[in-house]
Amino acid sequence: MRSLSRFALLAAFAAPGLLSAAPGFRTETLAPGVHAFVRTKPLGMLLDANVLVIVNDEDVVVVDANLTPTSAEATIAAIRALSPKPVSLLVNTHRHADHTGGNATYRGAFPEVEILASAEMAEDLAAKGDETMQGWIGWARQLSNDLPKALAAKTSLGGKPLTEPLRVSYEGDLAAVREIVADAGHMAVAGPSATIPVIGGKLTLRRTIQGKPRTIEIFSPGRGHTRGDLVVWLPAERVLAAGDLLVTPGPLVGADQSYVEDWIGTLDRLAGLEPAFVVPGHGAVARAADAVGALRAYRDFFAAVVTQASPALAAGKSADVILETLDVESFRKTMAGDDPVANFLFTIWGRNPSVQAMERARQETPR
Ligand SMILES: [Zn+2]
Repeated sequence: MRSLSRFALLAAFAAPGLLSAAPGFRTETLAPGVHAFVRTKPLGMLLDANVLVIVNDEDVVVVDANLTPTSAEATIAAIRALSPKPVSLLVNTHRHADHTGGNATYRGAFPEVEILASAEMAEDLAAKGDETMQGWIGWARQLSNDLPKALAAKTSLGGKPLTEPLRVSYEGDLAAVREIVADAGHMAVAGPSATIPVIGGKLTLRRTIQGKPRTIEIFSPGRGHTRGDLVVWLPAERVLAAGDLLVTPGPLVGADQSYVEDWIGTLDRLAGLEPAFVVPGHGAVARAADAVGALRAYRDFFAAVVTQASPALAAGKSADVILETLDVESFRKTMAGDDPVANFLFTIWGRNPSVQAMERARQETPR
C-alpha cells in the first residue's frame, strides 16, 4: 500500500451529489458544439475528471470517462441533452480510474463506441488496472470510515484542529467516497478497443459542425503525467484537452509513474500550439492568455525542480535529502495562495513526488 498512499491521492474519484439534483459538474461551452464538463467539487483528496464533449453533425466525441458508473451516467445524460447523436469515440487521456472507470458504462450506452488510448496506456491498464482500482475502492472505504470521525471530533486526519477550509474539503471528499463505496460492486476495469503509439502515433478525424469542416487531432505530446498520455486538439477552435498533463490549481505528479524531466518538453509542445482554451484533467478551464500561461507556469515549476534536483541526484543524493532544501515557494504562492488545502496538495501532489519521480525515472532508464 506504500505506493498507493503516495499515488492514491491522485486518483480521481467521482464527485459528490450525483445521486442528488446536482450532477457534480458545470457545462462551459467553448465553441459551437464544444463543451467542457468541469467538476464543481471543492478541492480535496478525491477528484473526478473533467470531460470534453465534442458534438459534430453526425456523432459525438468524448474525452475521458469519469470513475464510477453513477458519475459516467450523469455525464452521458448531459451529453444526450446536448445531442441525440451517438458517442462514436471515447478517448482515455491516460489509464487512471477517474479517466477510465466509466468505459464500461459508455459501452453499455453506445454499443458501437470506439474507446481509444495510447498503446502504452493499454499495456499499463491491463497490467495494473485491477489492482489500482481495488486499491482505490479500499482506500475510499477507509476514508468513509475515518472522515466522519474526524468531522465529528473537529480534527484533521492528522489529529490537528479542523480548519474551516479543511472541513469543507472533507465534506466534499466524504460525499465522493460514499458514492464510490455505493458503486464499488459494479466498478470494473474496461480497456480501450483501439490504440495509437505514443511515439509517432496521431489520429486526425474529419467531421463537420453545422455543415462546416472540423478537424480533431489526437496524439501524445510526450511523456509526463504517465508514459502514455494523449491529448485532444481542435486546431480551428484552438481547444486543447490536456488530460492530467495540466491540472489546476497545482501539479499532480505520480512518484511511481510520472516523467518530470520529459514533462517540460511536453508542456513546451502544448504551449506551442497556442491554445485559446485548455481543459485540464482537473480544475478550472484556462482561457485566453491564461491558457498558454497555465501551461508555461506548470512547465516552469518542473524546470525549477529539475534545475535544483538534477545535479543533486547525479551526485548521488536521495530524493528525501533533496526535498529538505528544495525551494519552489514562489510557485506555491502563485498556485496555492493562502488556501491551506491547496498548500497541502501542492506539497503531496506536486513538490514531493516531482523529485521522487525523477529519482525513480533515472533508475528506470539510466542515462
Ligand atoms: Zn486524473
